[in-house]
Amino acid sequence: MSKPEHIVVVGGGTAGWMAACLLNHAWGEGEQPTRVTLIESADIDTIGVGEGSTPYMREFFKRLGLAEKDWMPACSATYKCGISFPEWSTKPGFESYFHPFFSRMDLEPAADFFRNCNLRRRGQRVSAHPDDYFVAAELARQKKSPIPRQAFAYEHDYAYHFDAGRLATFLKNYARERNVHHVIDNVLEVITAEAGNISHLVTQNHGELAADLFFDCTGFASLLMGKTLDEPFISYSDVLFNDRAVAMPTPLDTSKPIPSETVSKAASAGWMWRIPLTTRYGNGYVYSSQYLSEDEAESELRNKLGAEAEGIEARHLKMRVGRVSQHWKGNCVAAGLSQGFIEPLEATAIGLIQFTIEQFIANFEKGEFTDAQRQGFNDSVNKAFDGTRDYVSLHYRLNSREDSQYWKDNREIAKTSASLTHLIEAWKQGEDFDAALAVEKSYQIYMRPSWYSIFSGMGCYPDFEESVPEYTLSAERARRLCHRTAKKFETHQASWLMAMGN
Ligand SMILES: Cc1cc2nc3c(=O)[nH]c(=O)nc-3n(C[C@H](O)[C@H](O)[C@H](O)COP(=O)(O)OP(=O)(O)OC[C@H]3O[C@@H](n4cnc5c(N)ncnc54)[C@H](O)[C@@H]3O)c2cc1C
Repeated sequence: MSKPEHIVVVGGGTAGWMAACLLNHAWGEGEQPTRVTLIESADIDTIGVGEGSTPYMREFFKRLGLAEKDWMPACSATYKCGISFPEWSTKPGFESYFHPFFSRMDLEPAADFFRNCNLRRRGQRVSAHPDDYFVAAELARQKKSPIPRQAFAYEHDYAYHFDAGRLATFLKNYARERNVHHVIDNVLEVITAEAGNISHLVTQNHGELAADLFFDCTGFASLLMGKTLDEPFISYSDVLFNDRAVAMPTPLDTSKPIPSETVSKAASAGWMWRIPLTTRYGNGYVYSSQYLSEDEAESELRNKLGAEAEGIEARHLKMRVGRVSQHWKGNCVAAGLSQGFIEPLEATAIGLIQFTIEQFIANFEKGEFTDAQRQGFNDSVNKAFDGTRDYVSLHYRLNSREDSQYWKDNREIAKTSASLTHLIEAWKQGEDFDAALAVEKSYQIYMRPSWYSIFSGMGCYPDFEESVPEYTLSAERARRLCHRTAKKFETHQASWLMAMGN
């Protein structure tokens, strides 16, 4: 395989440093090592948010050979069992649900769960709320970490919360220690050559910077892929209305057990996140500017946080929601906010960055570039984006809130993809849902437990007369099973000390 000689990554946010670390790890050693340079501006801030991950991020650290004790303390990181969604649904008994990371330890109770969901949506009143059937939900309820006291014989899934600024600094140090060249400067101009390739960058203080491959990690500016190469941007604004956020950190009392879940609570025109780190909470409100002003959003968030937020400054952010149509064009690859963004409801952005870079490396190593090969890469990244968009948008489609026009419009006028429409209809009509998932496999990326959890968790079942008794036996058995398994786990603080080798 012939490696690129010199790669320039533009941008020093999470995406830029993830790209620099992974590219340098793949090609930075051995015969004819690739030179990796990262250039970032001192004048343009990173977005500075993005504090929750999916389980996929564990692969990122494993690939770099980093154990949790190597990076978690430096990033104020905590363990994450999943996400709870309070107040998205108003259906009695379904006012909140937990989207768990599914593991082998769930196999037995989950079998009952799938069966009960299918019975219930076909009219039998069995208890089928996801919170009863997954160990991760029980762990979150008990504020326990997903790390068992004694390791299981198999891997099980969990994810992380972390301080975004500290993670970028940690990755910067890691990359610089491994010979990634770091330049602090502004890119003033991007110069293209024949066939639309980028030939070099013009910088403010370092002259021209040439390379054979460029990574655009310039955030929402999308300086290389969007502004220079003019790659069309496909907006998701007709599917996902939220285009603003306001963020505010608050103190966390470390003398109490640290929660192991992200809370994503519905609000008047969007939802509010609460993410526990070891040093503080990250809080924020993601909303739509069509329905709420900046001031209104900030005051709603402040009201929710109460005394905790007194004297704390709020950061207001704009979000461009959608994706570029190609993520790899000529000798340029876009990763991070420059390639697109799905609002952060399921904390998927960093996973998409990782997927893009890993897919690129794997494709490049196959060599022999053809348009078909590049197209294959772009198709797989687009599927990851569109599939994530569909799953995220389902939270809005299934909401049953009547308290504002925002929630009604999210049910009634927001666009739904054909693939997602098929899944919603199949669920509601009592059709074979697993068969529908198999049909939509080429458009969707979430797994079966996630689909069943969201439909059932939002209470997407036929109505019953209150007098019809609910059959709860298998739910009680599942709860007991989850409770028993949860005894094998510790509080967050105890597992953290264990992981740090104390
Ligand atoms: C409200 C909100 C919540 C989020 N929550 C999550 C979450 O929970 N989980 C998750 O996975 N993701 C989340 N994200 C997304 C996540 O924050 C980003 O995907 C991630 O931080 C990557 O950002 P980035 O590196 O692409 O861009 P940025 O952080 O914006 O970095 C851009 C970089 O480009 C540089 N740059 C720009 N122009 C130039 C120039 N001309 N010359 C030189 N340098 C330049 C800047 O200096 C900066 O270093 C969230 C995003 C938002 C908006």
